[in-house]
Amino acid sequence: MLRLAALSVLSVTIVACGGAESRAAGNEPAARDSAAGGVATAGGDTAQSASLSSAQPDPSRTPNEMGRIPVLEYHLIVPEEKGEFTRTPQQLKQDLATLYQRGYRPVNMTDVIDKKIQQLPKGISPVVLVFDDASPSQFRYIERDGQLVIDPTSAVGILEEFANTHKDWPRKAVFCMLPAAQVGRSFFGDKGIEGQKTEWRYKKLQFLHKQGYELCNHTLYHARLDRAGNQVQEFIARGDMAIDSAVAGYKVRTFALPLGMWPKQRDLAWQGSWRDPKTGKTVSYKYDAVLEVSGNPNESPYDPNFDPHSINRQIMYKNALEATLNRLDKATGNAGRYVSDGNPNTVAKP
Ligand SMILES: [Zn+2]
Repeated sequence: MLRLAALSVLSVTIVACGGAESRAAGNEPAARDSAAGGVATAGGDTAQSASLSSAQPDPSRTPNEMGRIPVLEYHLIVPEEKGEFTRTPQQLKQDLATLYQRGYRPVNMTDVIDKKIQQLPKGISPVVLVFDDASPSQFRYIERDGQLVIDPTSAVGILEEFANTHKDWPRKAVFCMLPAAQVGRSFFGDKGIEGQKTEWRYKKLQFLHKQGYELCNHTLYHARLDRAGNQVQEFIARGDMAIDSAVAGYKVRTFALPLGMWPKQRDLAWQGSWRDPKTGKTVSYKYDAVLEVSGNPNESPYDPNFDPHSINRQIMYKNALEATLNRLDKATGNAGRYVSDGNPNTVAKP
């Protein structure tokens, strides 16, 4: 039915996609449950309450809601850092601690688009944490006494633990996922890769959604869209269809370009449709945000230069986080750091 194999760079395991017609339901997650579906975070970290009161936002920080918002990009979370696409669990934990101490709190990409960042307390800055490619290292289950627990060294395990021990750190992060890529990058692992069972995949997406994290499309299997010819819309639409199969009715609003490569017809990255030859149904997509791979911290949504179809990110490796935050602290005005004034009705301009 498809000619994916010929074009494939990474993969080809096609999931059964379906149910994309039921798009009516809203995206508000149901009541959050830290043990959703009988899945608990494995207690790995006992640094518990020591950090709970150690860092407070600085209400004297000058509000600047024209300032920039870092959009941090993570890939593999592995025991050893090897180049720019890896971060160790310890480094990720340290990144969260650094952000917390420096007055940042996570928001989803949709919170930026919807300007919900206006609701942040005075002196606080938003940061968007984005995890690309859906590897098991981002969300791994361990079977323990017949129960599924989240591996505390996987990104989700680390995020959950951090939220559990820091009451003013919300469960927000964006997962830009592939449903059909190789080496286990199929909704966080399948076919026993890194011990991950195929039947756990949808459960993982449902958990993320329930907790309040944002689900983002990163295409079917990471094919470069600049070379995808007339399959651009198919590769994108089928990513949405697979997410819909896991979380029925979920409206995907954020899309991440594989390798930052644009399709020849640029607007197909945020709007398009594809007719599924199997069912004869047409699946349409329309995104509010398109994520690029790298660049400076992104403009505030109040900045006239803000372009939601070209959101810049910062790849997190080595000391990139500290460097990014230091640069934002030094710069001023629209190039400086977004700091909330605590008033949802006013836009604080420096
Ligand atoms: Zn990617």
